[in-house]
Amino acid sequence: MRPVLLHELFHSVTRFKGVGPKFAGFLKKLGCRHLVDLYWHMPVGCTRRRWVQRLGDAQYDEIITIVLKVMAHQPPDIPQSQQPYRVRCIDRDGREIDLVYFHGGGSYLLRSLPIGRTLLVSGKFESFYGKWQMTHPDFTGPITERENWQGAEPVYPLTQGLSQKQLIKIIAQALPHCPELPEWLEPSMLAHEHWPSWHQAIAQVHSPQSDRDLDPQHPARRRLAYDELLANQLALLLIRHFQRRQSGSTFRGDGHLRRKLIAQLPFELTPSQSQSLKEIFADMGSNGRMVRLLQGDVGSGKTVVAMLAMLNAVECGTQAALLAPTEILAQQHAATLTPWAEALGLKVGLLTSKGKGKKQVLEELDSGEIHIAVGTHALIQEGVAFKNLGIAIVDEQHRFGVDQRLKIGKKGEKIDMLIMTATPIPRTLALAAYGDLATSKLTEKPAGRQEIATRVMPLTRLDSIVEKLKEAMQKGRKVYWVCPLIEESEALDLAAAQDRYAALLAHFPGKVGLVHGRMKSAEKDEVMQSFIQGNIQILVATTVIEVGVHVADATIMIIEHAERFGLAQLHQLRGRIGRGLEASTCVLLYDGPLTESAKARLKIMRDTNDGFLIAEEDWRLRGGGDTLGFRQSGLPSLKVANYTFHQELLTRAHKEAELIIKQDPDLDSARGQALRTLLYLFEREQTVGYLLAG
Ligand code: ADP
Ligand code: MG
Repeated sequence: MRPVLLHELFHSVTRFKGVGPKFAGFLKKLGCRHLVDLYWHMPVGCTRRRWVQRLGDAQYDEIITIVLKVMAHQPPDIPQSQQPYRVRCIDRDGREIDLVYFHGGGSYLLRSLPIGRTLLVSGKFESFYGKWQMTHPDFTGPITERENWQGAEPVYPLTQGLSQKQLIKIIAQALPHCPELPEWLEPSMLAHEHWPSWHQAIAQVHSPQSDRDLDPQHPARRRLAYDELLANQLALLLIRHFQRRQSGSTFRGDGHLRRKLIAQLPFELTPSQSQSLKEIFADMGSNGRMVRLLQGDVGSGKTVVAMLAMLNAVECGTQAALLAPTEILAQQHAATLTPWAEALGLKVGLLTSKGKGKKQVLEELDSGEIHIAVGTHALIQEGVAFKNLGIAIVDEQHRFGVDQRLKIGKKGEKIDMLIMTATPIPRTLALAAYGDLATSKLTEKPAGRQEIATRVMPLTRLDSIVEKLKEAMQKGRKVYWVCPLIEESEALDLAAAQDRYAALLAHFPGKVGLVHGRMKSAEKDEVMQSFIQGNIQILVATTVIEVGVHVADATIMIIEHAERFGLAQLHQLRGRIGRGLEASTCVLLYDGPLTESAKARLKIMRDTNDGFLIAEEDWRLRGGGDTLGFRQSGLPSLKVANYTFHQELLTRAHKEAELIIKQDPDLDSARGQALRTLLYLFEREQTVGYLLAG
């Protein structure tokens, strides 16, 4: 189905001369499997190789190309030693330079650099204890090669085992295969931006003449970045367009289950919960598929909104599913939903990858006995069949990507989808990850919640904190004490948490508990239970409490080594307190000296409780997201564009994609055909599949 023009671009790199399985393995590490991937592998630097007549004209450490005459070979004094093999040469003035080779190579060198021969040599000109030398020249060979060994050349990101020379060679081999493609951008835009064609842009990017050509704002790079962002936006918007256009189910339940649940709730819905539900029910009740984002800070009460949305579908005789990013969170959701459902005579089923009784759950999903399914990714695996799934709620916390969302859509004919996210998403991220979804927001906290006061203190103040805790605990307060857990040294961190636990226990005998990720769930539950009941008042925890637990009367949180946490994580953690009627306090303990960025993070935490602001700052501080941030965010990963440098292009690509879909949703016009090529080029064929199916 891929346009013929692109066929060659998706040939394996092994088609090239000299690329065997080992070489291909290295290339794969760089993300290059197909020819086209080599084009996306862009230079990060540029070196100049200067042609010089005489050694006297060269600067130290400069890369030069020169004609030399081989005078003598000097093997190491001791064979197999660390000493190099030297080949003494002279330039036209008779000045000497040694070509230096480590790791032997005697007979090969004798053959390729015979004494008396005049050769072209290219490499780095160095001085070693006052003598001139060139270590492992990049090239030695016939003088006729001169044109190829001067001027600028790209510097590519490498991986262990692969040399710059090899990579340059293979990419140079690939470039002549770059096809001319039909233009998918508006001529007016190209003219206005002074952008080259795709073909020219690829050629330019791979032949930088100076560092200026590496700038992300260079016209060639901007063009390619825009192409990529446009492909992503177009893909996202097309999928949504077709999902909406498919006649979806119209869920207009009679409300009997929803009314009953609301009557039983020990609280009133907040205005924004009601408003969000109104928006959700309007989507569900209309023809076409719902794809909506429900944004609400930690503790804003998303779960009950999700439940009411699911009940609307259940009232219409279909099943509902709630997907959570982690096992613990899935369990927590199941625990919350089950009593609500049972009171309504409905059945909740929990499906995780580890869970017991999996087979039975699968059967009951298939038979329709389970009305509400809760689970992890396991729910969308192949082999999980629903009798009649009507709505899927994704509690994603930034961990589900676009692909997973597509997978869910395939579990049923006409599934409505609601995506819940705890960390408010900055606009750039929302655009990039979702192409801007219809969004409902929970803006206020449930009634009676208190603002959390946050203090930042050095670890050295520990003693005074313990004193303060004594007072608080006499008043019956409950305390979370969080110790960080960083993957690389899990054992060490765990030991730190255990030490803290022991130290606190000495101050507060019988009043301290410990939970961490290595404990069995049953053990964890036991400790949690006694914390909830108040038998213990301090819960020392690794970040396992980040997700899940709800203990309304916990009002103090101490976070040790707060400087090690990211902003979003700190905010999530802090959201565990401030849930009851009492005022809450969060103490961020740091171990100095602090980096600038750690300082900034702690200051933001002290200054605001506004999750939205925190998310924006987090995004800014990360410089648009480090790789880890990307992975967690479910953002499409980018080959060319950069979310930091090309934000404004992203906004424009989004606008243009909207326009295209308004004018030519089936991509039938000549330009539409070109845009299909663009989608294929960036491997968005799934989307094109929609076009064909739709
Ligand atoms: P989150 O948005 O973080 O998922 P939850 O749905 O877990 O928040 O809600 C946090 C707590 O607030 C739960 O105990 C829930 O029962 C309670 N809650 C939800 N809505 C309200 C409300 N309108 N008034 C009071 N408490 C509420
Ligand atoms: Mg939640």
